Amino acid sequence: MSMKACPQCQSETMKEHDVIMHYLCSFVGPDYDFTSRATQFICPKCTYGLNVHQNDWEVVGSVYRCEACSHEELP
Ligand SMILES: [Zn+2]
Ligand SMILES: [Zn+2]
Repeated sequence: MSMKACPQCQSETMKEHDVIMHYLCSFVGPDYDFTSRATQFICPKCTYGLNVHQNDWEVVGSVYRCEACSHEELP
């Protein structure tokens, strides 16, 4: 995975994250908004676990976030 520089704090800690859509409640958010419990992601909106990929949830895009200052940017 390639790191890119953050326009805000200049550290090279921008990491790409998946943007996930949960079909059950139509919540759309980056993977770091979902709590991971064991091997499962938990939806922050409806608190249900995400089960079958493509059936319950899907990756709809990606976003970059700086590990240092939390600045977010679309690719
Ligand atoms: Zn930054
Ligand atoms: Zn949900």
